[in-house]
Amino acid sequence: MKKAIYPGSFDPVTFGHLDIIERASKLSDELIVAVLKNSAKRSFFSAEERVAMLGQEVSALGLNNVSVMSFQGLTVDFADSLGCDVIIRGLRAVSDFEYELQIAQTNHVQRSHIETVFLTTSLNYSYLSSTVVREFAAYGGDISKFVPTDIIDRIYERSREAAERSM
Ligand code: ADP
Repeated sequence: MKKAIYPGSFDPVTFGHLDIIERASKLSDELIVAVLKNSAKRSFFSAEERVAMLGQEVSALGLNNVSVMSFQGLTVDFADSLGCDVIIRGLRAVSDFEYELQIAQTNHVQRSHIETVFLTTSLNYSYLSSTVVREFAAYGGDISKFVPTDIIDRIYERSREAAERSM
């Protein structure tokens, strides 16, 4: 595996994502974590904030062959523009499977030279998603088992801002 891309929303990054990044970095010469900037969907953190948080955590892990970027549009187009021939995705439960299979097959029809490789979640993170983190934080729950310590305060702060906006 030469150059791989790991696309996602990462809104925010969790220990589940970092586990996949760490494992995928060992399988590839170069790994690009690609943060989707989706203008149709209001995100919790902006793409710039998500890139900054991921960059900080990737550096903390000392992963020298990993870089973080944001992108808009189709993953296959972005992968192609960077010369990536592998797309990495994480699989947690059966519930992920149907959607991921459909996307992977669609991408393969679009670009037959790009393969999707699935890494199964580590057992201790199989329950974990960015949605769970946002929901816990909204109710002041303990998120220290879900995300790195240095981004916890930013998540609570954003939750408070979101709650104030909706009042
Ligand atoms: P998307 O909106 O594209 O699903 P996410 O940020 O939710 O983006 O997830 C990005 C990728 O990381 C997906 O392949 C997802 O299945 C995977 N992933 C998310 N959480 C975990 C986890 N806890 N363990 C393994 N993979 C995960």
